[in-house]
Amino acid sequence: MFETAVYDTKPYDRQYLTAATDRIKWRFHEFRLSAETAVAAKGAQAVCVFVQDVADRPCLTTLSKLGVRLLALRCAGHNNVDLSAARALNLPVVRVPAYSPHAVAEHTVCLLLALSRKVHRAYNRVREHNFALHSLIGFEIHGKTVGVVGTGKIGRITAQIFRGFGANVVAYDPVPSRDWAAQHGVGYLDWDALLAQSDIISLHLPLLAETHHLLNAEAFVRMKRGVIILNTSRGKLIDTRALIAALKRGTVGGIALDVYEEEEGIFFEDLSDQVLLDDLLPRLLSFPNALVTAHQAFFTHEAMSEIARVTATNILKLESGEPWLAGTAL
Ligand code: NAD
Repeated sequence: MFETAVYDTKPYDRQYLTAATDRIKWRFHEFRLSAETAVAAKGAQAVCVFVQDVADRPCLTTLSKLGVRLLALRCAGHNNVDLSAARALNLPVVRVPAYSPHAVAEHTVCLLLALSRKVHRAYNRVREHNFALHSLIGFEIHGKTVGVVGTGKIGRITAQIFRGFGANVVAYDPVPSRDWAAQHGVGYLDWDALLAQSDIISLHLPLLAETHHLLNAEAFVRMKRGVIILNTSRGKLIDTRALIAALKRGTVGGIALDVYEEEEGIFFEDLSDQVLLDDLLPRLLSFPNALVTAHQAFFTHEAMSEIARVTATNILKLESGEPWLAGTAL
C-alpha cells in the first residue's frame, strides 16, 4: 500500500486523514518536518506537511535522496516550502488551494464581532455573576469603512459578509477582480488611500518577500487613529513590535489576530503549564482591545474533511501516475 509520512500530526489530523481513505498507509509523526527530521520519511513515497513544517533546501534534498516522490501540503499557504529547490530536485509539491474559504472568512468576522462587542470580556464577567455593563460599550460595523487587503478566495467572501452588515467595503489588490467588485459594490483604492480611509483593515493576502511586515510603523501612522486590524492570513505580514507601539499610542484601536509572527512552536500546542519564552505574545495578550486565537480560522468540520479528501486524492494520483487535481500543483 502507498505509504505517506505525515508530520506535525495532531489527533484531529489522524481522525480526518484516516477517514478520507483506506488506500494510503499513513505514518503519523507528532514532530515537525525539518532538515533534521526528514530522515523519518524513509520508506515513504509521499510526505504530508502543515504550516509550521519547514521544507527548505536541505530538508527537500534529504527527502529526495530517500526516494520521496511527492510533498503534499495539507494547507493552502506554501511560504514554508522552498519551491525552487523542490523544482530543481524534481520533487512535485501539491497543496489544498481552497478547502473552505468560508471557514477563514467567517472566523475573521467572528473575531471582529467578539472584539467590537467585547464578547471575550463579557463572557468572563457573566460567569463571575458580574452583570454590569461598564466598559463593555461596543461599536457597529454598519456604516464603517472596511479595507480588505487581498481579494482572493477568502478576501472576497469576507468582503461580501461585511457588505451584508451594511459596511462600506474598499479593497486593495495588485490583481483586482473588477467584475466581482462591481457586482458586490466594493471599490478598489490604492494602498495609501485604503490605509487613510479604513476604520477596519482586514488582511487576506499571502506572505511573500514583498509583503513581509506590510503593516509596519510607517504604515500604522498613515492609518485612521483608532483603526481596528484583523489578520487571519500570516503573522509575518505585521511587524509585531510596531503593532504593540501603535496599540500603546492608541493609533491602533484594536486587533484581532488568528496568526502571530512567531507562532511557530507556540500555536497548536498546549503550553498552559509552561513558561512562555516569547516576550511579544504575552504583551499583545495583555491589551484589553486585543483578541488572539491560535491559527484556528481553518478549523471547521467542513474544511478538515475537504483538506483530508483533497490531500488523499493528490497522493493517490501519484500512485496512478495521473496528473494532480486541477490547481493543486505548485
Ligand atoms: P488567494 O491566493 O486566493 O488570494 C490572495 C490574494 O492576495 C490574491 O488576489 C493576490 O493578488 C493578493 N495579493 C498578493 N499580493 C498582495 C499585496 N501585496 N497586497 C494586496 N493583495 C495582494 O489566497 P486565499 O486563499 O484567499 O488566502 C489568503 C490568506 O489566508 C493567505 O495568506 C493564506 O495563507 C491565509 N490562510 C489562513 C488560514 C488560517 O487558518 N488562518 C487558512 C487558510 C489561508
